[in-house]
Amino acid sequence: MFDTHSHYDSTKFDEDRDEVVAGLTAPNEFDPQGVKYALTCGDSMESSRRAIALSERFAHVFAAGGVHPHEADGFCAEDLAVLEQWYVQKKIVAIGEIGLDYHYDFSPRDVQKRVFAAQLDLAKRLGAPVIIHDREAHADVYEAILKSGVTRGVMHSYSGRREMARDYVELGFYISFSGSVTFKNAQGIVEAAKSVPEDRLLIETDAPYLAPVPYRGRRNDSHLMYATAEFLAFARGVSVESIINSTRENAKRLFSVE
Ligand SMILES: [Zn+2]
Repeated sequence: MFDTHSHYDSTKFDEDRDEVVAGLTAPNEFDPQGVKYALTCGDSMESSRRAIALSERFAHVFAAGGVHPHEADGFCAEDLAVLEQWYVQKKIVAIGEIGLDYHYDFSPRDVQKRVFAAQLDLAKRLGAPVIIHDREAHADVYEAILKSGVTRGVMHSYSGRREMARDYVELGFYISFSGSVTFKNAQGIVEAAKSVPEDRLLIETDAPYLAPVPYRGRRNDSHLMYATAEFLAFARGVSVESIINSTRENAKRLFSVE
């Protein structure tokens, strides 16, 4: 399995981080496969730095660096130069997670938009894929991506309609589903998940958040993603093997991972 979105730098893993991350590659009671690749995403400059440190210690861990809309208020011009340097020199395979969040509005919307646009422009210039967070900001996120000219990336923990997923697929993007697709009342997300072409589908945990049913509410990790793979396999009428294989190969292609 390739978990395309996690936060192993989260304080929720402070007690046992090394044990959890080192243990991902071996099968366990939740996961008969084991996890071959895990992408851990930064959400601030500090957290991106921690993500890189993890990627340097574990061969199966890759990092993404970027500033989340929640943290946009503290962003400064020098941060862009640092992100660029990291992307070139470190085990960073994407700019993310970046985007807009109009649900919490932890940073003012004009600041969120400015910081998002600056990081999209950086990704465009570097030819880097982007990892997009879009919470209740669909129109503005789509407009900013179109304006930037970025055509490589992933809509993370997708929760929009199937029509919007189709627009992103046409643009060149991948669509990633987390444990939220397994939740009750997620019929709209399931419909979107059934509609995404097999060569653009990704899966993720967003660990430590969004553990899939039947583990909902507990701390998530990449092993529990097997339940999401099973759910998607059932919804799409294919084998769990084929979901795991195609999402892994898709992620390797998007993030240029060998
Ligand atoms: Zn995330």
